[in-house]
Amino acid sequence: MDYELTEEQKLIQETAYKFAVNEIEPIAKDCDREERYPREVWKKACETGLVGAFIPEEYGGPGFGFVELALITEQLSRIDLGIGTVIITATFGSENIFMFGTEEQKKKYLPLLANGEAVSAGAYTEPDAGTDVAATRTKAIRDGNEYVINGNKMFITNGTICDWMVVLCVTNPEAEKRHNRHSLILVESDRKGIEANKIRGKMGIRASDTAEIAFEDVRVPLENLIGEEGNGFRQLMHFFDTTRTMVAAQGVGLAQGALDKTIKYVQERKVFGQPLAVNQGVQFMLAEMATKIELARNITYKAAWKVDQGQVDPSLNAMAKYFSGEMAVWVCDKALQLHGGYGYIDEYDVQRFYRDAKILEIYEGAKEVEKITISRRLF
Ligand SMILES: Cc1cc2nc3c(=O)[nH]c(=O)nc-3n(C[C@H](O)[C@H](O)[C@H](O)COP(=O)(O)OP(=O)(O)OC[C@H]3O[C@@H](n4cnc5c(N)ncnc54)[C@H](O)[C@@H]3O)c2cc1C
Repeated sequence: MDYELTEEQKLIQETAYKFAVNEIEPIAKDCDREERYPREVWKKACETGLVGAFIPEEYGGPGFGFVELALITEQLSRIDLGIGTVIITATFGSENIFMFGTEEQKKKYLPLLANGEAVSAGAYTEPDAGTDVAATRTKAIRDGNEYVINGNKMFITNGTICDWMVVLCVTNPEAEKRHNRHSLILVESDRKGIEANKIRGKMGIRASDTAEIAFEDVRVPLENLIGEEGNGFRQLMHFFDTTRTMVAAQGVGLAQGALDKTIKYVQERKVFGQPLAVNQGVQFMLAEMATKIELARNITYKAAWKVDQGQVDPSLNAMAKYFSGEMAVWVCDKALQLHGGYGYIDEYDVQRFYRDAKILEIYEGAKEVEKITISRRLF
């Protein structure tokens, strides 16, 4: 057992943190206020090698593992979860190409992501199929050499700005078991019949693009199928079992950022003629925050490490995501509390962290779903 990061991992961590401080921090507040997707920062992140860390060298990526991806995710989220999400999800959905795609698909799509020429999306959720993703109704019917897609997707990250999306569709409605009815199909965003509308007014991660998407008689070639027809649901579960570690890393980074700001604030803010930090009650609160962050960090790194060892552990990943998300919400609540009234206003970043944190308990599987995965393993 070795808890030390390698020199290369430390360098990746440092590079990501410096990038976040220099490129993200100066615009984070404005992007949140204006709900603006910072395309220029995504582009710079690609040039710095922070996008598509999982993409192997032969497809133009740096060929890192999920541990390195977790380190990058953590450091970006420490400064701003919204723009961190922009960078980390620039390849979202395309992990399916990496895991289940053909050699031709990998060669065609992955280099574009790594080089900063394309952004992708994963379109699974529907207005009536979120937690129960197998209730998906979007259909892809074969017609000659093509699939014809009809349906609606909801809450799709990068929906209005992506170049392609990997869409969960029903291709085999006649299959007896509902888990054998789905397939993942790559759909280029410029195909006729697609309408994507940005969802405004999100509580948090407002720099990240979120959209509703309608597909009306969208035609794609059969070769756009990712993996096996009828196996899309199982492929998607495997996808979530790996990418959830990144949501856990987002929680660790966000909470660490909230703690960093709070440590600084309680030393500056004077109450009863002395810094807030001299109160043992305040110190204990900070100690509890630091402890919970460290616990989440350890389980997240372990989960990511197991992915890299080819020992994906759905239960451990679910624990990491559930614990880290809940921890981040809790830590941000305490951070805001220690900022008092100042924490409640827009001028101070801590209110943005507080709003951003909540999504970590909802997307990529609500925390209750993680508990279902964990408890299933217990029996
Ligand atoms: C900002 C944002 C970005 C997103 N990005 C994407 C994306 O890129 N791609 C994509 O496909 N989706 C995306 N989503 C969708 C997200 O994954 C879903 O919102 C999430 O899975 C929950 O689905 P739902 O909203 O339909 O909630 P529902 O399924 O209606 O569930 C509502 C709540 O009920 C509880 N619940 C549900 N089932 C159970 C149960 N069995 N036991 C106990 N409690 C339960 C949970 O607390 C849950 O939050 C995004 C959502 C948001 C808000």
